[in-house]
Amino acid sequence: MLYEVDFLPVGEGESSGDSICLRYSSDNGESWIVGVIDGGTKVTGEKVCSHVRDNYGTETIDFIVCTHPDQDHASGLSVVLEEMTVNKVLMHCPWDYVDHFYDSVTDGRVTKESLIQRLKEGHPYAHRVYELANEKNIPVHHAFSDGEAPNIPSLHIVGPSGNYYLEQVVNFRSINEITEDSIENTGLLKGLMEAARKAVNWISESWDDEKLVDPAEDATSNENNSSIILFFDFDGKKHLFTADAGVQALEEAANKIEELGFPLQEFSFVQTPHHGSKRNIGPTILNRLVGSPVSKDSAASFTTIISAAKDGEPKHPNKRVANAFARRGAKVIATQGSTICHHANGTPDRGWGKADPLPFYSDVEDDD
Ligand SMILES: [Zn+2]
Repeated sequence: MLYEVDFLPVGEGESSGDSICLRYSSDNGESWIVGVIDGGTKVTGEKVCSHVRDNYGTETIDFIVCTHPDQDHASGLSVVLEEMTVNKVLMHCPWDYVDHFYDSVTDGRVTKESLIQRLKEGHPYAHRVYELANEKNIPVHHAFSDGEAPNIPSLHIVGPSGNYYLEQVVNFRSINEITEDSIENTGLLKGLMEAARKAVNWISESWDDEKLVDPAEDATSNENNSSIILFFDFDGKKHLFTADAGVQALEEAANKIEELGFPLQEFSFVQTPHHGSKRNIGPTILNRLVGSPVSKDSAASFTTIISAAKDGEPKHPNKRVANAFARRGAKVIATQGSTICHHANGTPDRGWGKADPLPFYSDVEDDD
């Protein structure tokens, strides 16, 4: 089976995002299935359209996935919907599910209507995707691991389950009235980021002495944990796309993959979650998903790509996270301003050079 997975660079400066284009073919390139997983920012949305046109030679995208409503993933997708022919949208529409969680979020003073409004206004980018899909009569598939199958060849939704999603959505910032904008307005976020930048010291880490620890349960946001997690089986070459999912969400996905009858630890490709943040991954889940550490001279057995901004370090990617993947047999590559293509042997030659993997770092951030 032929496949090409392209991670596009997202964002300016130090803010990261995700945008992944892919296509795959089971008839040796006669016909292709084209997908887009997240569209980054608006600027990235334009890049997605030209990438699909220039490299895949088509105006038609079989499916797009809005993994979660955060701006760095969702906003570019509206550009894609406006410019290209899209056949299916996979996403979550929290404003449609209010009946399922109304009782657990309100003390009676909030009406259902105002809750729906809050969810639409609190997630304007995802809501725009939903509106455009409706305007263009594109079917919206509500992507849950225990829901209806998306009917896309090779693809399984492995997270989140409906219940896990609802547990996350009741804690979304949009419901709890602290929106990203209000945090930014108070300058709190800026202050925190500056503090984080100043605090970086370095400690040494070796292959056999892992400094990455399992993150706390609430280390990443509920929005991130609500991410759609995608598993593709390209004729035995297994690919996992994690978006911004945290440890608990990844544990659920691992359960689902096993339930589907696929073994873990035999991936060809695993996306490093959340732009390489150490809040989303730890030794325990990594050992389960991709396997325990291997000896330093072993050849890489799978690839991971970290979608991280050019100046995203030390947060994106965190060097302990990059090392943790390398230690478990991964070839680790970060976008950091470039488009990275991971592909099967035999795909059309684009004349691109080989991407340099990240080195194993002997000094990592001491930022606990
Ligand atoms: Zn993100």
